[in-house]
Amino acid sequence: MRKFTGNTLLVATHNQGKLEEIGHLLEPLGIAVTSARDHGLPEPEETGTTFVENARIKAHAAAKATGMTALADDSGIAIDALDGQPGVYTADWAETPNGRDFVMAMTRAHEALEKIDAPFPRTACFCCTLVLAWPDGHDEVFPGVMEGKIVWPMRGDQGHGYDPIFQPKGHDLTFGEMDRWEKNRISHRADAFRKLVAALGR
Ligand code: IMP
Repeated sequence: MRKFTGNTLLVATHNQGKLEEIGHLLEPLGIAVTSARDHGLPEPEETGTTFVENARIKAHAAAKATGMTALADDSGIAIDALDGQPGVYTADWAETPNGRDFVMAMTRAHEALEKIDAPFPRTACFCCTLVLAWPDGHDEVFPGVMEGKIVWPMRGDQGHGYDPIFQPKGHDLTFGEMDRWEKNRISHRADAFRKLVAALGR
């Protein structure tokens, strides 16, 4: 596994919230962050069919354009009875002409499960894949996962996205009912970041 020996990592995102979250995680390791937006990079089209493909597209585009080592993530929810859908299209299921509507997206997921009379428990997992890419084309992949099940009706108003219909394995609360601290301790993103931080080895 290749080590990252620099002091500043380029985070391949245009999302300020994501940049700050990642910045806080890496600060104790003596690693500063800068974003694709800070460098005026365009957002590449996410044409992959898997989380790792899309994270690779974003990380390599940013690394090539800047000559820096770049970190990208891609995440979403995969529902087993729907053959892994919405998967890489998790955010797309929420798109409307007026912005994202996650109540609509969660209703779509529930209705798709009802339509095929999917058996219970309706298992699913949240995935987060991190890719660290170097300008010479090398990369390292850190996958994170949280298994659980889809519940209905929606429960809880904490969190974001599909949190109110996802109950993680071994817990009674949905992600939407959990406090942020607890969710961030056990989530798919935490899992991937633990692996990244271990690999950065500082
Ligand atoms: P992206 O990785 O920024 O492309 O986001 C993918 C989509 O997955 C987000 O828009 C959310 O809808 C969904 N998602 C990813 N992680 C979570 C989570 O922890 N809770 C709820 N939804 C999530």
